[in-house]
Amino acid sequence: KEILYEVKNLKTHFPIKEGFFNKVTGHVKAVDNVSLEIYRGETLGIVGESGCGKTTLGKTLMMLQKPTEGELIYHVDGQEKDLTKVSKEELFNFRKKVQMVFQDPYSSLNPLKNIYEAFEEPLKVHGYKTKAERETIMQKVVQMVNLLPEYLYRYPHEFSGGQRQRLCIARVLQLSPELIIFDEPVSALDVSIQAQVLNLVRELQKELNLTYVFIAHDLSVVQYMSDRIIVMYLGKIVEIAESNELVMNSLHPYTSALLSAVPVPEVGGKMQRIILEGDVPSPINKPSGCPFRNRCRYAMDICAKEEPVLLKKENGHQVACHLYDPTKGDRHA
Ligand code: SF4
Repeated sequence: KEILYEVKNLKTHFPIKEGFFNKVTGHVKAVDNVSLEIYRGETLGIVGESGCGKTTLGKTLMMLQKPTEGELIYHVDGQEKDLTKVSKEELFNFRKKVQMVFQDPYSSLNPLKNIYEAFEEPLKVHGYKTKAERETIMQKVVQMVNLLPEYLYRYPHEFSGGQRQRLCIARVLQLSPELIIFDEPVSALDVSIQAQVLNLVRELQKELNLTYVFIAHDLSVVQYMSDRIIVMYLGKIVEIAESNELVMNSLHPYTSALLSAVPVPEVGGKMQRIILEGDVPSPINKPSGCPFRNRCRYAMDICAKEEPVLLKKENGHQVACHLYDPTKGDRHA
């Protein structure tokens, strides 16, 4: 497998300022020491409840949000570039290769501009000089998402939610990206439309050899789309595995709870649902030790004292839980 993007010890923290003098009284640790690799051609799913840091991670991968610490190493033309250290010009070129599709297709398109204007702008910025050149690209991408070229002359309000999200996807395809980060791309759409958009996204990946990061709170959607899945909780990665492996042999108690919330047809016996009690704790005052311990039914004394680290298990599976540490827990899978 060829690595396209490597993230090392990434932290994205936001200061909390209070009072007249804007005194910094603490930090929201939205992404807290995350390391991961993205392989060329794969779909890497990122799943977790809202507030777990997955959107901040997506924005930091895009360098739309500056990280507090860590390395973001993009592999380009046989070279490795740490995006936290590159020049403005190199960052501009990177932005052409990596694009993001956001959750809300209603606010992603300016209601005052027709689609032609909205599409033409990024092409002008990235140096497509002639009108004819730009029009050829615009017409091509609109057809790639199964819409008609004449739709370019319409305004956003003339489209349904599903059509708008297709247009947002078409707009990012214009610059021939290598990597697309999708942040909850179907959660604002009707369930009946979701599958159409997801299938289109999958077809485009095959056709154009794209690499995807697919962020969502719905594990069944992430499973459908992804080759590998990262489970996040309170700004940390708690489990990583191949998609089927994660679903069939989940290790972390949080992943098991997320999975039991996914409705499945009952075959034979009844499935025991694990109900997650309580809310995600505040990312400002994280609990000591394991961040999941106040909701975990297996919590042990050690869980309050020591934070578990990601341990490598079989089949490329990694989990951060003391239960699977041979020196602490009793589940050494
Ligand atoms: Fe539960 Fe402890 Fe594992 Fe955390 S480390 S998930 S509290 S068993």
